[in-house]
Amino acid sequence: MTRRLVRSLPNDGKPLRSLTDVQRRALQGFRQKLASGEYRQVPADCLCGASPDSGILVGEKDRYGLPVTTLLCPACGLLWTSPRLDDASRTRFYEDDYRLIYSGWHTSPDTFFQGQVAFGRRLLRQFGAHFPSGAHPTVYDIGCAAGGALLPFREAGYAVAGCDLSEHAMAAGRQHGLDLRVGEPDVLRDRGPADLVIVAQVLEHLPEPHRFVEQITTSLLKPGGLLFVGMPGLFEAYHAYHRLGRYLQNAHLYHYSLHTTTRLMALVGFRLISGTEEVAAVYQQVGPSQGRGSVPDPAAVVAVRRYLAQGESIRSELAWHVRANHDRLKTVLRLARSRQLGRAVARRLGRVVGQLEP
Ligand SMILES: [Zn+2]
Repeated sequence: MTRRLVRSLPNDGKPLRSLTDVQRRALQGFRQKLASGEYRQVPADCLCGASPDSGILVGEKDRYGLPVTTLLCPACGLLWTSPRLDDASRTRFYEDDYRLIYSGWHTSPDTFFQGQVAFGRRLLRQFGAHFPSGAHPTVYDIGCAAGGALLPFREAGYAVAGCDLSEHAMAAGRQHGLDLRVGEPDVLRDRGPADLVIVAQVLEHLPEPHRFVEQITTSLLKPGGLLFVGMPGLFEAYHAYHRLGRYLQNAHLYHYSLHTTTRLMALVGFRLISGTEEVAAVYQQVGPSQGRGSVPDPAAVVAVRRYLAQGESIRSELAWHVRANHDRLKTVLRLARSRQLGRAVARRLGRVVGQLEP
């Protein structure tokens, strides 16, 4: 049997997070479509062209307990998923299953929209400095879901529009009068090129992210324009999700760090202006695309291996201490509750103790 880099990720069907009834039903439906052949899976190469046979096995399930094989590319250091849904199945997955499995809803609730608005405010603060005062820049959000991120930009005088593949998600933004369209980036072409294009939580879902960025560059972005790229960064996985398995999800075909994102963006003609491992990064278009390309990057492979090894080592050390002190931790939690330190403190402690269960 091949050894996994992350031993705690066997294909045992067990989810790594709590699920609502809606999510459980949606997952069951998705599994049935996989089992019946209604959804088909196909082997996939890494972006750099490496074959799945050459990939180093990382894990065999995702946060939902779905059978997801994650591989580390020995050539370029990307993590990628193979096999994955074929194009037709993926299109239907996003229309019928994705929101229900991932969020438990089809039509975005107001809290989701407000979260997007808050994200848009942060982006506006970040980008305001890039544009001269008095200018009325154009901003597009590609993969905009409810479109909330665009609202602060519109209020600040920007011309805004968004697109997404899912009609369901857009209702809230349309109620606010935002121009949100169903389809690929091309559906915004008639509005002319933009100064800034937001691509948040999108590229990691795409089998050909380079083509997607090329499409934006040629049809939607002014020469020298800015692209905001947001993705769940691989090197934040343990910090943000406590364990790698909660970071992995079947919809994400590649897992990027800031470094591998910047390498991808360099190949398609963009340079990094600023960025974090979150990943939240600003790129500027500076030259022609060289396409997908193949860039051997042994240092990136070493960095990922080291990151995973350290994360797993800390987790197992933690698990040992938790086992040794479990009764004491429970006492801490009981005291936090009984001494009325506030519900928030008890909740936070409860979450920590719960997550620490070995
Ligand atoms: Zn690769």
